Amino acid sequence: MRYPLKNWNRIKRGYRFGEKTFYSARHLGADYIVPEGTAVYAPDDCEIVVAGNFPEGGNTVHAALVDSRYGKVILRFMHLKSFSKVGRYKKGAILGLTGNTGKLTKGPHLHIDISRGKVAIKNFKNFIDPEKFFSKMRAQPAPKSNIKKLYYLYILECADKTLYTGITTDLGRRIAEHNDSKLGSKYTSARRPVRLVYSRKFKDQSSASREEARIKKLKKSEKMELIKKSKKI
Ligand SMILES: [Zn+2]
Repeated sequence: MRYPLKNWNRIKRGYRFGEKTFYSARHLGADYIVPEGTAVYAPDDCEIVVAGNFPEGGNTVHAALVDSRYGKVILRFMHLKSFSKVGRYKKGAILGLTGNTGKLTKGPHLHIDISRGKVAIKNFKNFIDPEKFFSKMRAQPAPKSNIKKLYYLYILECADKTLYTGITTDLGRRIAEHNDSKLGSKYTSARRPVRLVYSRKFKDQSSASREEARIKKLKKSEKMELIKKSKKI
């Protein structure tokens, strides 16, 4: 889900949901004061089921979509200057441009109302407050990147033949740090150059840390055995 208008949170509001308006006792949706010609975006994959000119709402679009909280909903966008045709639209597609058409407007704005299942003008309870409908989006966590970080457990052999064990998310960078910068460890900076003799990938930090702790407790001979075994594979 995305907002149907850019800069959603900063747009000035006119009549809000449930307020008395110049034409009704209860406003069915919310009014967003935007200049004529502002793009109205599909908040999600949707289908324009009605697109036409009506005396009161002017150029109007009804977009149907399925919401995870409310099920099937109809979003009505009114007073448009122009609008897209009936049909299916992808999230982010332009459904129309805002305007100032129809009798029920006194200045350029976008009226949005949202109905559960179907539009029933006389049943106020069937409408959802657009502010509420879209405000839930703010609480949604940012989509997680598909690229999962891997953690590497590594063993370095230092110049004095002692071993150093650590974990990192970037093996190449970390070895360079151990050899060339202050970002390496105190232990290795006194024993340069170091070279990688063992590494193993983990899907998360905690399992890499557990293995690191286990290896750090091993005797040197046991560590050497581990390194030797890994080289045979
Ligand atoms: Zn309105």
